[in-house]
Amino acid sequence: MAKKKKPDYPHCGSCGKKMVRARLRPSELRKLPKSSRRPERPYPELCPRCMREKIKSEVGVV
Ligand SMILES: [Zn+2]
Repeated sequence: MAKKKKPDYPHCGSCGKKMVRARLRPSELRKLPKSSRRPERPYPELCPRCMREKIKSEVGVV
C-alpha cells in the first residue's frame, strides 16, 4: 500500500503566501549532496519579496 502524502507546500514565514518551488522526490534528493537540498538563500522560509525586505532591513539600506 503506497502512502499518499498531501503536497506540503512551504509558506512564506512572513506573509504566509504559498511558495512554489521545485520539489524533488526523496529518491532524487538522496542523489544530491546535502548542500544542494536547500536553495542558496539566506532565508529559505521566506518568499523572494519578503526575503528582499528582510535583507534590506538587516543591511540597513537607507
Ligand atoms: Zn512573503
